[in-house]
Amino acid sequence: MKTGIVKDKQYLQHNMGDYHVESPQRLEAVYQMIEDEIKFPYLFIKPRAAKEEEIGLIHTPSYVQKIKETSSRERVVLDPDTSTSAQSYRVALLAAGGILETVDKIMEGKIQNAFALIRPPGHHAEASRAMGFCLFNNVAIGAQYLLERYNQKRILIVDWDLHHGNGTQHSFEQSPNVLYFSTHQHPHYPGTGDSSEIGQNSGEGFTVNVPLSPGKTDEDYLYIYRNILSPISEQYQPDFILVSAGFDTFEQDPLGGMKVTSRGFGALTQELMDLSQKICGGKILAVLEGGYHLRGLREGVKEVLTHLGAQGPRTETSIQSSPQREKELSPFMETYRKYWNL
Ligand SMILES: [Zn+2]
Repeated sequence: MKTGIVKDKQYLQHNMGDYHVESPQRLEAVYQMIEDEIKFPYLFIKPRAAKEEEIGLIHTPSYVQKIKETSSRERVVLDPDTSTSAQSYRVALLAAGGILETVDKIMEGKIQNAFALIRPPGHHAEASRAMGFCLFNNVAIGAQYLLERYNQKRILIVDWDLHHGNGTQHSFEQSPNVLYFSTHQHPHYPGTGDSSEIGQNSGEGFTVNVPLSPGKTDEDYLYIYRNILSPISEQYQPDFILVSAGFDTFEQDPLGGMKVTSRGFGALTQELMDLSQKICGGKILAVLEGGYHLRGLREGVKEVLTHLGAQGPRTETSIQSSPQREKELSPFMETYRKYWNL
């Protein structure tokens, strides 16, 4: 078995209200799909609760305390889009802990890659602030854990969620040890992620933002992965790849304006698989972020899992540049050619 899956019904116990798009029904749909449709053998990973000091790898003690104090309270509103229910703190510890448990399994060689199907999501969570449906920054905690617990030197975080992962960027923008690569609709929530945000001090050049106007297709994303992400990754030579896997770029997602199909998520996963085989022994941990169209989420997750499990068809289509692509990416290219051979 080379692929792990984190799933646990306790993740359904965080609830931000009956009409909130980041609903327990999202994971219910995904878990049902796994039961019905994932037929290849995989390792089921039972998450553990992260310890407070592990959350403290990224978050301030006073912020951890603030979220802890929401326990058993019916509802605490943290920002206009983000609130807690009685079980949210416990579930958020289990989300981050699911990542840490899976990092251990991959680093011990028990599996090669995995998909953590968790909630609440994480990439908007700042060191001392909840925002954008996120409480603790699961992916950032995982990356810092890899640096400290396993003495890794270079972690690549690929964020294909529709939105920019402001919290993840801010966690590592001063560090060359984590390269944050994000494609996102722009301008859009949360407002960060311009291609002029390149990292600071010794982290300069290790924050890579590809802001995109709406309407991008599978081919557009593949073009960016092949022509920007691949060469940068090959030059960076990461030890481990974390993926902030959101499905709100799906063509019918209620929060986004992109045109990615479920097969597109499979094709992007295949690109990352090929890359990871070349540079880090196939070590990939995908972590669920957004995705609010239930069928899109269900089908997208299925595609990602199928490719992680090496069961998916390969897309060999070559994708040509076009004047429109060149024009949109040219400010980006101009900035980043200073740091990377593109
Ligand atoms: Zn999102």
